[in-house]
Amino acid sequence: MKERQGKLCRFFFVIKSQKQGSVQQLAVPYICIMNEVWENVELAWSSLIDRFVSPDSRLNWLYLISSFVIAFLFLMVVSYRKNKKLNPFLVLQEFFDPKVWFHRSALVDYQVFLVNTIILALLIIPFFISSLMIMDSTKNQMIIWFGDREIVEVSVVWVIILYTIILWLVSDFTRFLLHFLLHKVPFLWKLHEVHHSAEVLTPITQYRMHPIEMLLFYFRGIFVIGIMSGLYLYYFPFVMVEEGYMMVFGVNIFRFLFLFVGSNLRHSQIPVKFPAFLEFILISPYQHQIHHSKDQKHFDKNFGSHLAIWDWMFRSLVRSKEVEKVEYGIPEGNPHKSLWKAYFAPFRRMVKNEK
Ligand SMILES: [Zn+2]
Ligand SMILES: [Zn+2]
Repeated sequence: MKERQGKLCRFFFVIKSQKQGSVQQLAVPYICIMNEVWENVELAWSSLIDRFVSPDSRLNWLYLISSFVIAFLFLMVVSYRKNKKLNPFLVLQEFFDPKVWFHRSALVDYQVFLVNTIILALLIIPFFISSLMIMDSTKNQMIIWFGDREIVEVSVVWVIILYTIILWLVSDFTRFLLHFLLHKVPFLWKLHEVHHSAEVLTPITQYRMHPIEMLLFYFRGIFVIGIMSGLYLYYFPFVMVEEGYMMVFGVNIFRFLFLFVGSNLRHSQIPVKFPAFLEFILISPYQHQIHHSKDQKHFDKNFGSHLAIWDWMFRSLVRSKEVEKVEYGIPEGNPHKSLWKAYFAPFRRMVKNEK
């Protein structure tokens, strides 16, 4: 567990143990508590800022700008086809429609995003295992099972290319699998329903999820990176693991491309589609919007994150050309109309076995 007790706090404890005056005894806990509160506020604030600057976060300013440019161009083309003239103001009006951004459902998204970010920073990350620990134990376990590897001559470039692709595939498949389970296991669905009860989609809707679902995805990430890095270290100890895959700004190149090429449009009102053949391979923003449809015939479709091949293999793929229009939400109406309900209604619905 990460030590988070402040320096000032430890300093006053030293004084207190030397001097047992009553003023000191009062001052020590007060200062320690204030110090602790301040440290937590700082940590929560930096995690929030991190959401907009970390290259691994979808909300990084660069990906927000790239998504905006793609959405703008897409809407310009659509409006030109309809009205036979270019009107950027109309497009901007459609993009920044206050009925979407200030919709009651979107306001709940913002609150869940804020509170989840704080929960992750203060209650989850400091108290759980890191992928480095899993990496070490995977490598050690492999040595116990199969003994030390003999050094073999392989091309470093090919190792890096292959590892980048395999890590991306494993990462994407495990995301697909967890998403699939969230839909198919009844109590997990009650939690995942929080994400699906969104009535409008904005990039923040990506973070509209129950904290337990967030924890599950967090563990998935840690285990995948930890196990894959451990295997990599075991098989190819001659290339440092951080240099072991192709990265852009410290992110796997495939993930970077996904984030840069409009990943934020998955959760948006803008139906960006890919050519029909490509939607067998990659999930387009509109395909994820179909996943959010309240129409029963689209239930349990398009679980994929980056790749559509898993849905294709599991027969859950629906392509954009098959669906004219999508209405978002769940058919029974929205049971998560406030932050409180988003966090606690799933438990009530589990206990009562509500549909
Ligand atoms: Zn889902
Ligand atoms: Zn979604």
